[in-house]
Amino acid sequence: MRPDEEASATSTDDGAVPPAAAACGVRPGSASPLTRRAMLAATGGLLLAACAQSTPRPSATASGLSPSPGGPAPTPSARPTPPSPSPSASPAPPVWPTREQLVQEFAGRKPKKFGIVVPGVVSEGRRDIALTFDACGGGRLGNGFDAKLIKLLEGHDVPATLFLNGRWIEANPTIAADLAANPRFELANHGWEHRPLTVTGKSAYGIQGTAGPGEAYDEIVRGIDALGEVTGERSPYFRPGTAWSDDVAVELAARLGVSVIAFTINGDAGATAPKRAVAANFGKAKDGSIVLAHFNRPEHATAEGLDKALPRLLDAGSVFATLTAALS
Ligand SMILES: [Zn+2]
Repeated sequence: MRPDEEASATSTDDGAVPPAAAACGVRPGSASPLTRRAMLAATGGLLLAACAQSTPRPSATASGLSPSPGGPAPTPSARPTPPSPSPSASPAPPVWPTREQLVQEFAGRKPKKFGIVVPGVVSEGRRDIALTFDACGGGRLGNGFDAKLIKLLEGHDVPATLFLNGRWIEANPTIAADLAANPRFELANHGWEHRPLTVTGKSAYGIQGTAGPGEAYDEIVRGIDALGEVTGERSPYFRPGTAWSDDVAVELAARLGVSVIAFTINGDAGATAPKRAVAANFGKAKDGSIVLAHFNRPEHATAEGLDKALPRLLDAGSVFATLTAALS
């Protein structure tokens, strides 16, 4: 395995996908509340490979983060004051805990679970089908852009939620801005170093997780900040690199107003799955499914598989929604 790729290997339940080195590493969590069907899909879907492995940066690079919410905060003082008190005046924005506060608050906490679906992680929606596509960023292969896949979604007028890694945004600023300006898409946070979200430093697929509450904070907030520069908003959603996390780090994310998002169906096995398997995986989607795939590996077959599956799902009456709508 090259050091710039995430590990993984298993076989699908239908044997369609060869054991492959993979990526954003994903396999079913042991404590998953997933349905059997979803579990099969997740198991069969293998890992998430689209993400080239990162070379973790020193955490010190994140230590200077502002303790305030990542996205540009509303600046009421910059607006003209209305002549009379407005009954609809918005409340003051929440003040999020600082890195130092969370380091102190979570010091000594021992996780009970480490996996894809641990307590507090969201892996299913309430309605419709939420298609989610990750751009993992970093390394030799992580910063690609699958324009064909995005055009496909636009052509069918299908909404989706795109999880952007901060390094991918740095490498693709114009594309990121275009995606942010497209009302069809909701953008969400896929971290900075693309590491499992932990307070112990445990690894998934050979990628070391964040070691301690400070590093977990950095991974979340650096991603919030990078995305906030593009969207002007503070994303409430976070998907860790590899999609693995532990329950204490998920609790820490919640203190920052952030939900950790996993998936119901692994759509493209880290962008390693061939067209037929991608189509089959997406074909299993139903109301409440959160489907995971990648749009940073255009050389792989994710778009081709989606091209087969999407018309069938639409013909069958499937309704697609952004994560926010699907969770509402
Ligand atoms: Zn990823």
